[in-house]
Amino acid sequence: IEQTAFQNDKLAMLGKIAAAIAHEIRNPLTSIRGFIQLLKPYLESIGKQEYARIILSEIDRANDIIFEFLNSSKPTAPMKQTLRVASLVKETILLTESEAHMKGCELYGENNDPAISIAIDVKQIKQVLLNIVKNAMDAIHEAGDERKGRIEVSSRREGRFAVIRIRDNGKGMDRTTLNRLFDPFFTTKEEGTGLGLSVSYRIIRNHGGTIQVESREGEGTEFKIYLPLVIERE
Ligand code: ADP
Repeated sequence: IEQTAFQNDKLAMLGKIAAAIAHEIRNPLTSIRGFIQLLKPYLESIGKQEYARIILSEIDRANDIIFEFLNSSKPTAPMKQTLRVASLVKETILLTESEAHMKGCELYGENNDPAISIAIDVKQIKQVLLNIVKNAMDAIHEAGDERKGRIEVSSRREGRFAVIRIRDNGKGMDRTTLNRLFDPFFTTKEEGTGLGLSVSYRIIRNHGGTIQVESREGEGTEFKIYLPLVIERE
């Protein structure tokens, strides 16, 4: 319980810092963008139109990152909508399938109980599922061995909860990683932000749920997301 309280404090602080930084960075980016637009004819006249294109697209990328970050770390109350878990899983697989193929893994969406529903902020929960599936792909990619990469997404009912299980046969985690993976900014990746799971954790907590993780180094990882069921009356 102490651990959780500490984590929530850190996340609330992170949200405030994110909002302040995003605000401060956006204004200079806007003026840089404006001046590059003005320099465009000059760059074209010296045959360097490519520079303008790269600068503008990189500025836009920086803006996107800030926007994403603000969106995900702002503590907003979830906008709830009742939805079948099976259709959520199906959509997550559709969204990630092509990237999975490119990274040499196969996605399986079997064993999804068609009868269970949850009341969720669809955008937020989709973001959580995408984060976890993408981490699974990275873990498979980083394992870099001959095994066929396999990610299974399944869902079932456990008491008052719907459980979404995401299992991969990637590189797994050592003890240190397992202890820290929900910490903001904790990452083992060269290009990682270390934000995916800390934000995911908070989204699930805000929905009255929880996340459990089991992992074996060299074998794979299993994430279980618990979300309160919507009990349908007969
Ligand atoms: P990022 O993906 O930017 O590193 P995350 O918060 O999503 O940030 O993940 C934090 C760390 O947790 C990752 O850097 C990785 O070491 C570990 N991790 C998360 N998911 C998995 C997984 N499925 N298999 C192995 N390691 C994982």
